[in-house]
Amino acid sequence: MSSEYKIIDHTYDVVVVGAGGAGLRSTFGMAEKGLKTACLTKVFPTRSHTVAAQGGMSASLGNMGEDSWQWHMYDTVKGSDWLGDQDAIEYMCREAVPAVIELEHYGVPFSRTDEGKIYQRPFGGMTTNYGEGIAQRTCAAADRTGHAILHTLYQQSLKHQAEFFIEYFALDLIMDEEGVCRGVMALNMAEGTIHRFRAHMVVLATGGYGRAYFSATSAHTCTGDGGGMVLRAGLPTQDMEFVQFHPTGIYGAGCLITEGVRGEGGYLTNSEGERFMERYAPNAKDLASRDVVSRSMTMEIRDGRGVGGENDHIFLNLMHLGPEVIGERLPGIAESARIFAGVDVTKEPIPVIPTVHYNMGGIPTNYHGEVLTLKDGNPDSVVPGLMAIGEAACVSVHGANRLGSNSLLDIVVFGRASAIRCAEVIKEDTAHKPLPKDAGDNCLARLDKLRNAKGSTPTADLRLRMQRTMQSDAAVFRTGESMQEGVAKMDEVYKAFDDIQTTDRSLVWNSDLIETLELDNLRTQAVVTINSALNRKESRGAHAREDYPDRDDENWMKHTLSWIDEAGKVTLDYRPVHTYTLTDEIDYIPPKKRVY
Ligand SMILES: Cc1cc2nc3c(=O)[nH]c(=O)nc-3n(C[C@H](O)[C@H](O)[C@H](O)COP(=O)(O)OP(=O)(O)OC[C@H]3O[C@@H](n4cnc5c(N)ncnc54)[C@H](O)[C@@H]3O)c2cc1C
Repeated sequence: MSSEYKIIDHTYDVVVVGAGGAGLRSTFGMAEKGLKTACLTKVFPTRSHTVAAQGGMSASLGNMGEDSWQWHMYDTVKGSDWLGDQDAIEYMCREAVPAVIELEHYGVPFSRTDEGKIYQRPFGGMTTNYGEGIAQRTCAAADRTGHAILHTLYQQSLKHQAEFFIEYFALDLIMDEEGVCRGVMALNMAEGTIHRFRAHMVVLATGGYGRAYFSATSAHTCTGDGGGMVLRAGLPTQDMEFVQFHPTGIYGAGCLITEGVRGEGGYLTNSEGERFMERYAPNAKDLASRDVVSRSMTMEIRDGRGVGGENDHIFLNLMHLGPEVIGERLPGIAESARIFAGVDVTKEPIPVIPTVHYNMGGIPTNYHGEVLTLKDGNPDSVVPGLMAIGEAACVSVHGANRLGSNSLLDIVVFGRASAIRCAEVIKEDTAHKPLPKDAGDNCLARLDKLRNAKGSTPTADLRLRMQRTMQSDAAVFRTGESMQEGVAKMDEVYKAFDDIQTTDRSLVWNSDLIETLELDNLRTQAVVTINSALNRKESRGAHAREDYPDRDDENWMKHTLSWIDEAGKVTLDYRPVHTYTLTDEIDYIPPKKRVY
């Protein structure tokens, strides 16, 4: 089988898969610590989805008023609807302040206050004094924060001795008989060569799987390849039912209008011109948490108060801010609205609709980034040789709902944490063991099968079926009935993959093959997402069930774990939420009703 392929072998201490914010922070952190590090990425590093982040990165610097990491932690726990692990949340909120200062020193051009401090804007769910006031906590570089951060991190990476393998598509993990991860297989898309990377540690930083849905703000490359690899290796994913809908995607186009617009004073209106968020969230109004705003918008539309010819969307108003504020703080938004909605934001509102934006679920890890085994009853045992960070992972700091600006924070903090941990685990004299004899054989057999797939279903058709099913049956509001239908439809989609058709056997830039590989990764995650959602009989954060409208802490304050076998059969299990903190500087924050 594998004899048909020319395999090129490599040996590194660490292989990072992904060059978004998480992957790059991890990569140069490893290199800085003297570890021989490779970074594989399917797109050029600065084209990773992190580049599109607009609004900013949270940290309780207190530049625009009093703030503390404890308040930030409280908001994050509440935002997570008490599903987040409090040890990990404490770690993230505490590390946020040094993380931003570090980025500033690396060269991120943050916007400034008149005194020259880093500018911070209000963001949804970010408060002072445990929910009493509105915090200005989100550090911004105008509305292009991700762009600024990603470019800076790439420059830092080039300064260190990390080696980049650009436009290499990672295919599968190499696991040995003992369940240790020993490396990763990859395809060099420019040359069509197969590469086998042996490493002490593989770090998955492959981003989210937003493209399992029809309308998403995420890039076309967000196909959850890391999650796909992990599920194929027989390992679980966690909390996959929690998919964030961002309130303000441009109607029809899907592209994002940052929450920073509402942070700067923008607001939503219905067909009666009413600022309806005042009814749903009397205190935070338009700056309530994302799940709350998305549901309120959906309810307005359902009640016949949507705008436009079909009464099926909502208006976002920022005309009153004036051209000066818009030009200085939101220039990218003005441009997106002009291009994608044909709107001049200084004169007209932007048509918006809730759009899939972020995956709270992912590969379960501890706060060092180590992937958890989660079988045989030991909640802390890790998969040796494997880490996951960033949106691909579920650490879990976002629980059932992520607060805006906490993800750029997550990727930087846990990217750094993974490097710190690797330097502890991998010693100078750690010897490389030979790879198992059959290393990579399964992967090449799968590749071979997909290259030669001569069925009757084109990849694009099957992908569309999956995306439409997820969009309609695992939506902002969910019912048992629609999800049951969705589970059946997704089961058919999963099986129809056996009848897939790939148009060309070539390994070089055959985008149809790459898209088939991506669909293979998406389909497993779509299936576990909708099955996990059907089984969670409560409403929590982004998971809102009409048939179970309340949160049920007694039965459901636990993480969902999901496995899938080759035939598409899903197994679910649960594990407790971490209800402890790391230090005595803050106590466990017990659940209470989540109102804004
Ligand atoms: C439009 C938009 C705006 C956002 N705005 C904000 C914001 O203002 N604040 C905030 O906190 N969060 C924001 N978010 C969320 C946040 O930007 C993302 O969650 C975060 O950037 C993800 O970073 P990452 O490094 O995990 O993954 P990504 O940036 O998605 O990078 C993934 C990397 O993995 C690589 N990769 C994937 N699969 C493979 C494979 N098979 N082989 C090799 N390489 C592979 C890709 O090439 C890429 O380099 C926004 C998200 C979107 C979509």
